[in-house]
Amino acid sequence: MRIDLHTHSHHSDGTDSPAVLMVRAAAAGLDVVALTDHDTTAGWDEAADQVARTGVALVPGAELSCMVAGVSVHLLSLLHADDDADLSGEMEHARTSRDARAREMVRRIAEDYRLTWADVQDQAGPDATIGRPHIADALVARGHVPDRSAAFENIVATGGPYYVGHYAQEARAAIGRVRAAGGVPILAHPRAAARGRTIGDAVIADLADAGMAALEVDHRDHTEADRAHLRGLARELDLLVTGASDYHGTGKHNRLGEHTTSPEVLEAIEAEARGRTIRPSDT
Ligand code: AMP
Ligand code: FE
Ligand code: FE
Ligand code: ZN
Repeated sequence: MRIDLHTHSHHSDGTDSPAVLMVRAAAAGLDVVALTDHDTTAGWDEAADQVARTGVALVPGAELSCMVAGVSVHLLSLLHADDDADLSGEMEHARTSRDARAREMVRRIAEDYRLTWADVQDQAGPDATIGRPHIADALVARGHVPDRSAAFENIVATGGPYYVGHYAQEARAAIGRVRAAGGVPILAHPRAAARGRTIGDAVIADLADAGMAALEVDHRDHTEADRAHLRGLARELDLLVTGASDYHGTGKHNRLGEHTTSPEVLEAIEAEARGRTIRPSDT
């Protein structure tokens, strides 16, 4: 069983449609994939429609923008109810704020580079959660930088002159919301230091206390030392351990299935969730 619990479609900053993502998951030899777009569940139905055809089971999910101790963190929510008003309201708040923030970043960048809001919209899927990757892609299309990564090293970098923050729910409260919606909260890439400041072990312990279920340990943004440390911390805090690709299509080098989660851990996640994995045998 090959299980990848963190991927993105063009409903956020991935480049594949959910249907194409499912076809590529099958081609990559995956048995189970979670769709976890940033602050949206808009891709669930299209992905679910491909389960029977591709033979790949779908874990519906999302990656929630959160803040804790003044640090931006990402919380994966798997198998939550899509109709939970509190959780979906928070996601909508984040999307609205991300939109305003991206417009302000474009306004600032346009003082120094030729760039318009329409350029950014050209890079985003229908009703996509807008992120810096779309601004980066627009800068690539305009020829200002060679690729997304180069944009992140410079023009759209965290804390750079054009950077603007956006609303993100408080992580402890988000964990409560995910649980209330029947979902399972997992801290995404806790030690991805290249993305900016990360949280310490005491803060992770506090999140575990708030009901967090797991740490995403096997992820390309973690060194071997990070993984060893996080595995020890998970054992200490009685948290599950996941691994995933964080696939973004052509937007990043991450390959589907490059890191995976064990079947035992998926079973434990499913046992805690009210929502269900959509399997080929269901359809
Ligand atoms: P935002 O959520 O709009 O602040 O943008 C952060 C997103 O940008 C993350 O979800 C990553 O997927 C993506 N990202 C961060 N660093 C890089 C990078 N160096 N290259 C490509 N994408 C990146
Ligand atoms: Fe992303
Ligand atoms: Fe993330
Ligand atoms: Zn992600």
